[in-house]
Amino acid sequence: RLADNPALSAAVEQGCVIPVYILATEEESPWELGGASRWWLHQSLSGLAKELDQRGSRLILRSGNALETLQQLITETGATAVYWNRRYEPTIIKRDKTIKQKLHGDAIDVESFNGSLLFEPWEIATKQGDPYKVFTPFWKSCLARNAELTPLRIPKTLRPPAEWPNSEILTDWQLEPKISWDDGMREFWDVGESAAGKQLAKFAKRSAASYEDQRNLMAEDGTSRLSPHLHFGEISPRQVWAKLQATLDANPDAKDGAKTFLSEIGWREFAYHLLYHFPHTTKKPLRENFANFPWSKSKQDLRRWERGKTGYPVVDAAMRQLWHTGWMHNRARMIVASFLCKHLRIPWQRGAEWFWYTLVDADLASNTLGWQWTAGCGADAAPYFRIFNPITQGEKFDPTGAYIRLWVPELAELPTKWLYKPWEASDSVLNEAGVTLGDNYPAPIVDHSAARQAALDAYDKIKKS
Ligand code: FAD
Repeated sequence: RLADNPALSAAVEQGCVIPVYILATEEESPWELGGASRWWLHQSLSGLAKELDQRGSRLILRSGNALETLQQLITETGATAVYWNRRYEPTIIKRDKTIKQKLHGDAIDVESFNGSLLFEPWEIATKQGDPYKVFTPFWKSCLARNAELTPLRIPKTLRPPAEWPNSEILTDWQLEPKISWDDGMREFWDVGESAAGKQLAKFAKRSAASYEDQRNLMAEDGTSRLSPHLHFGEISPRQVWAKLQATLDANPDAKDGAKTFLSEIGWREFAYHLLYHFPHTTKKPLRENFANFPWSKSKQDLRRWERGKTGYPVVDAAMRQLWHTGWMHNRARMIVASFLCKHLRIPWQRGAEWFWYTLVDADLASNTLGWQWTAGCGADAAPYFRIFNPITQGEKFDPTGAYIRLWVPELAELPTKWLYKPWEASDSVLNEAGVTLGDNYPAPIVDHSAARQAALDAYDKIKKS
């Protein structure tokens, strides 16, 4: 993005600027971009290139080893400084440290900035100087800092170099899927900085005041849908913060909604705090006894979950929303994650991997936190024994059934009462709605009560160990 981009603003102060994006796929390993993220990245880079063009600048695209690419560009252009905004994924921290050292050694002025968090993960600590593992005191400690969070403006001018270096061509990178999987994503999303700004403005005006009441209703447009924009840096949390403060000043009735919404931004900060201090948690449980959990290895169950064919309508609706749009409602994420880890007892890591591949907002910090939280093995996690009931969750958070009807159209004609548990409906009700269980909609893959008990028994084993 161009607004509130500290690295860009600092570079502009120094002289002419060459904006560069380096695609270094292998360096992201083991978390190379998933399919949906690649799609988003393509649209996002294309949008950024247009914004830069309009201001007489350009976006230079290069692929390959990041350090070598930068050194090559420095040789080609005579650049004397390299600035970027920090990332916090463990392998990227390591890589960027090496780049900094090497370029310093080449007498280049190198600086990194905070462009994507309200607070650096290392700035917040308990009185004993330890990282937080519980959200509420963490967020209180963030808020108590009363930090200056005013976003930076778009630089007035971006001075171009005398000669532009060559750029690779975006379409040559083949970031978009080869199969026509992205139709739904195209329909659902406007990508890029200006789309992100519009989405924030729309949310602040229409939904912030009702966020508290609406945010759990899966069929409603009650949340901001800013997650992919935030993840890809098209908008910054400082911009979100400033906009919500302005909304609060103008509309005191929005107080509760805005406060809750900002605490969700706080969860994002918490996720980065945890990722920074406990980098192993992307693969391993924070609570170590969970390493001995008797997980199931059923590939068939995993596949049915991924494809939205579990026979539990609310779970299937959510998984199909994910596949179609690259996004899933937060309430739905909790329901499907709980179903995978508890009803099917499949390791949370398998669920995290599927989300990583299919979410347009796939984010190592938030995804890890979300999965460990739901599986009961992370920081401030939901206790394992609190098992989401996929029937009552649907009744409560999709009370009209609109969410299920939209994503599981084969059940659309069922009366709402049976929509959450079609296997309990009589043959005549099913017939009238055109539903044949096991034929045009699956029978439930597990029995809720039996699966719940099996999960609790499994948990008892690790509790004792
Ligand atoms: P809003 O309700 O409008 O919230 C505003 C912003 O706050 C979001 O855009 C997001 O940046 C942040 N936020 C909200 N809830 C959370 C949360 N629980 N944890 C961290 N940040 C939060 N979020 C991701 O951005 N990427 C992920 O890969 C991701 N994986 C998840 C996996 C699981 C199993 C679960 C339970 C949650 C996951 N989340 C993830 C968190 C959350 O579901 C999404 O951030 C949210 O649904 C995005 O929609 P929104 O922008 O409309 O959210």
